[in-house]
Amino acid sequence: MNKAAKIYVAGNRGMVGSAIVRFLRSGGYENILTRTHAELDLLNQEAVHQFLQAEKPDYLFIAAAKVGGIQSNNTYRADFIYQNLMIECNLIHGAYAAGIHHLISLGSSCIYPRDCPQPIKEEYLLSGPLEQTNEPYAIAKIAGIKLCENYNRQYGTHYVSLMPTNLYGPGDTYDLNNSHVLPALIRKAHEAKLRNEKALVVWGSGRPRREFMHVDDLARACVMLMEQGYNGPFLNIGTGTDLTIRELAEEVIKVIGFQGDLQLDSSKPDGTPQKLLDVSKANALGWKAQIELRTGIANAYSWFLEHIAPGLK
Ligand code: GDP
Repeated sequence: MNKAAKIYVAGNRGMVGSAIVRFLRSGGYENILTRTHAELDLLNQEAVHQFLQAEKPDYLFIAAAKVGGIQSNNTYRADFIYQNLMIECNLIHGAYAAGIHHLISLGSSCIYPRDCPQPIKEEYLLSGPLEQTNEPYAIAKIAGIKLCENYNRQYGTHYVSLMPTNLYGPGDTYDLNNSHVLPALIRKAHEAKLRNEKALVVWGSGRPRREFMHVDDLARACVMLMEQGYNGPFLNIGTGTDLTIRELAEEVIKVIGFQGDLQLDSSKPDGTPQKLLDVSKANALGWKAQIELRTGIANAYSWFLEHIAPGLK
């Protein structure tokens, strides 16, 4: 990638898109194109196609998506499948129609069958039934992989899909009904500490295992693979280590300094029992996650203190 290349980051206001923009800027890329939601509605096919035709970026990162935690995925099921399919179709077909050869599209580790062997290898895709709480989102993200694969096969494009594990970091969502577990626990531990509460409520049994990666590690993977001109099959991007939700909550309360106990709320769903990615393919290409969980949580907490905490009651 030439430093003057025109690079469009779709979804630059989100946690992933903003991390990619930060990483590109720090690497000396100057010609970064972004649009707010008000300026460009990614659900509007005509608007997206016109924009891509007019701007003709050299590279495209698709970090735009409707995302959320277990409760939000399970409640807004129609919105998750519809919006994600539309965003992918509009941007991927629009990129092809505008003659854009290079793009990276982001998915999620929830594309894999609920009960597949761990750590999860890329080849387990479509080998069994999906977890029900996020099936609509997963189906849309699988469609994204298949769009890229088949545009490459039919049209010779270089469209790459990456499947990151559970992400966290600056720019995350802290609204408790929509957020993922890590930001939810940060906010709950912070509030419980301020209010001198006895316990922090953790949803589910605390037993599911998850892998957590700081978003800056993903941004580095995206830019490195684009710079390398990687044009192979889709890749898992993760740390290669997981822990239980209970262990995660214990890490979070240590960083935040909450002294109380954990209280499990079994009325909330556990979701898939384990999600740990096999990241040997990405590692073999020269990328490895670098940010330790505790350092990452501390970084996310500072961002929370600066941007979210002042607005809370
Ligand atoms: P998932 O990875 O798609 O299941 O999404 P989440 O990040 O939302 O949830 C991961 C796990 O953390 C699930 O087992 C949740 O039940 C559990 N969990 C525990 N406390 C919370 C919480 O406060 N919010 C969320 N979103 N999940 C929680």
